[in-house]
Amino acid sequence: MTTTAATPQQVLETVFGYPAFRGEQQAIIDHVVGGGDALVLMPTGGGKSLCYQIPALVREGVGVVISPLIALMKDQVDALAAVGARAAFLNSTQSPDERRAVEAALLAGEVDLLYMAPERVTVPSTAELLDRITVSLFAIDEAHCVSQWGHDFRPDYLALSLLHERWPSIPRIALTATATDATAREIVTRLDLGRARQFVASFDRPNIQYRIEPKNQPVQQLLQLIRSEHPGDAGIVYCLSRASVEKTAIALAEHGIPALPYHAGLDAATRSNHQSRFLREEGIVMVATIAFGMGIDKPDVRFVAHLDLPKSVEGYYQETGRAGRDGLPATAWLAYGLQDVVQQRQMIERSEGNATYKRRMGQLLDAMLALCETVECRRVQLLAYFGQQSTPCGNCDTCLSPPEAFDGTVPAQKLLSTVVRLDRERNQRYGAGQLIDILLGKRTPRVEQLGHTELSTFGIGTELGEQEWRGVVRQLLAQGLLAVQGEYGTLGITESSAAVLKGEREVRLRREAPRTSRASRGSKRSAPSDLPAEAAGLFERLRAWRASTARALEAPAYIVFGDATLRGIALTEPATLDELGQVSGVGAAKLEKFGAAVLAIVRGDEPAAAASRDEPAFADEPPFADEPPYPDEPPYLDEPFNDIPPPE
Ligand code: ADP
Ligand code: ZN
Repeated sequence: MTTTAATPQQVLETVFGYPAFRGEQQAIIDHVVGGGDALVLMPTGGGKSLCYQIPALVREGVGVVISPLIALMKDQVDALAAVGARAAFLNSTQSPDERRAVEAALLAGEVDLLYMAPERVTVPSTAELLDRITVSLFAIDEAHCVSQWGHDFRPDYLALSLLHERWPSIPRIALTATATDATAREIVTRLDLGRARQFVASFDRPNIQYRIEPKNQPVQQLLQLIRSEHPGDAGIVYCLSRASVEKTAIALAEHGIPALPYHAGLDAATRSNHQSRFLREEGIVMVATIAFGMGIDKPDVRFVAHLDLPKSVEGYYQETGRAGRDGLPATAWLAYGLQDVVQQRQMIERSEGNATYKRRMGQLLDAMLALCETVECRRVQLLAYFGQQSTPCGNCDTCLSPPEAFDGTVPAQKLLSTVVRLDRERNQRYGAGQLIDILLGKRTPRVEQLGHTELSTFGIGTELGEQEWRGVVRQLLAQGLLAVQGEYGTLGITESSAAVLKGEREVRLRREAPRTSRASRGSKRSAPSDLPAEAAGLFERLRAWRASTARALEAPAYIVFGDATLRGIALTEPATLDELGQVSGVGAAKLEKFGAAVLAIVRGDEPAAAASRDEPAFADEPPFADEPPYPDEPPYLDEPFNDIPPPE
């Protein structure tokens, strides 16, 4: 393919098959094509890749893309090859012969995009190789990996400031979806991008529905979500510990959901096998720690569920952003409970960092808790966190069924004074379970034995149920009116509690919504179900064709065509190659390769037998009661605060 004379718009249309740029893409691309440096802050799914791919195809020479994850390079290159772009990678998975072949192609001018990991760029032999070719630009993907505060920190990224020293005239474009001001500033300093133009896209992901609900029986709640809203869909479930990843994956599999575990404790071969199945097969649910997900550009992940509280809003937004990159409706669902707060506070306390570090982690957690407990629109709060103003979205749980806020001063006082009494009079400290038993006047053996029936607060809290009391405890913790103390994570009062006890401070609480029927209320259903019936049938036949085509190519299905493109075909029923070429996502190379087969399916030539996708047989299974309620005890934690994957 010769690209020298092509404009960005022509490349967009003929190579990628898209009619128009999105958001700031055009401005970014024009700037880089013109030789400028750029820092691009754009949410996951915003369309960052085109921002460096198109300039690399338009400018003379090779665009060098620095990407942190070797395991994903092959897919990235395959996706480019599928649209007819000349892309290659250099990394340690290749044999010396394979590497030599890539080098020869580079020197022969047969490569437009070259992917490599940061550690490779800075070694002398690579630098010498790059000196022998024309480099059109450097793209630094996942640029937040230079940030030492973030959980994706990669020391090798620090050396990338060398790019500018050694090749000062080659434009650089750094891209990331993690974009608080602090992170952006750190990227600018560390990558020496002070003169780069900054492009800050809107961080809104309107197609993602954000929902946060109290955690009671997490696996059952998750199953409910999958069965009622996302049967057969691909999704990611995040858990904090390796143990809960394993347990959850097994539980899902037992209930007929194709789930695979992923965490840093699994050996590399298993991890890569699970990752590749997630990318290649349809409808796999990946149960993972945060070790999984960076750089995964599977566009049709329909839901991201969190079974444990993320440590920061940045992390949460990045993880949930992996849902619905194709712009179709997707769900971000988080179940969060009292124990999460206790556990996270303890983890910060026990971590090895100094006081500044702990304070900083505490602030990140507080922002996350505020998001969980808000009675306002979740999206407004999320975007505000990234410095962007917005109005209520209509597509989050608080917009769809506004929670009630109530004056919780009296319950708060009852709870706090129980804590004070136990602590002061008896020098005893207890977890939430015991406090609630006392307030409810429950004569459990432990309550009797410890003489807690004599406390003046015994039985004074019967106006609320156990679940509601847990909500009160959780919210007081979130508001800093209760503190987690000591090795066992018992509860104590804080400096701010005194004002509440003295009646000088009002406490606003969010009423726990009843658990039933929250799922799918007002929610948009996933991909095919909002298509008209005829189109839905065609969509399924196209999906089946895509699956077998992808299997034959040993490539992820989305490399053939994304869901959005299949929908476009199903809705327009093109009869000719020309008409098919008009559908968004159908570029020249794919039209040539797949056009005839797609038209045959649209005409109905293809036997429909293989078409229907396997529907898991759940729907009418009875609900099961095999899951114990969410425990009050600190769960078993088997890993350090960070779950950083070992360097590739
Ligand atoms: P990011 O890297 O920002 O997370 P991607 O570059 O993977 O996002 O793009 C997300 C999805 O949007 C991809 O499926 C991509 O093909 C699609 N996309 C990007 N730009 C456009 C565009 N201008 N028109 C239509 N689809 C686009
Ligand atoms: Zn909202």
